[in-house]
Amino acid sequence: HLSRRCSIFDFTDSHDSRFSEKGILFRDFMPVFADARGMQILIDALIKALPVDADQFDSIAGLEARGFLFGPAMAARLNKGFIAIRKAGKLPPPVHSCSYALEYGTATLEIEDCAVKPGERVLIVDDLIATGGSAAAACDLIKSVGGEIAGYSFVMELDGLNGRKALGDYPTSSLLQMP
Ligand code: AMP
Repeated sequence: HLSRRCSIFDFTDSHDSRFSEKGILFRDFMPVFADARGMQILIDALIKALPVDADQFDSIAGLEARGFLFGPAMAARLNKGFIAIRKAGKLPPPVHSCSYALEYGTATLEIEDCAVKPGERVLIVDDLIATGGSAAAACDLIKSVGGEIAGYSFVMELDGLNGRKALGDYPTSSLLQMP
């Protein structure tokens, strides 16, 4: 019951203008990573809450940037590989790209063509799901390079944005549900 340990998970509701202009609080959990015990608890909790058994996936894909902070730690703990899904222009070609709509404009994520083996089963992780657009784009990318989706694991889920709808029927877990 991670939500009972919120004092360790020192979420800072900063008024970052990128989000607060739209009336949304920016959920910053960098302090968790600065706390040795917080980090252990986070990784333990994510693994305990996995949406599928660990033998049902071969690797973990994390979204830049905060999915890179704990995705590799989960993967190492589970003896899996880690796949990077990055913002446009960061990975060496050949890459696959997926653009998706934001409230204002578009965003693009990329994956290296060689990132997964054919039929590899991949668990997608990110810190937070809001509209689900980023995670759905990650799903398209994994599939476009020949992988299969085992499920999704998030630290936090923003209620009321229906983000899960964008993910389809894949098994999904989130540790905290916040307004
Ligand atoms: P979305 O694609 O709408 O589900 O947004 C999820 C992505 O945007 C994640 O990679 C988050 O890190 C980031 N994000 C969206 N909303 C917030 C928020 N309120 N606080 C912090 N990060 C957010």
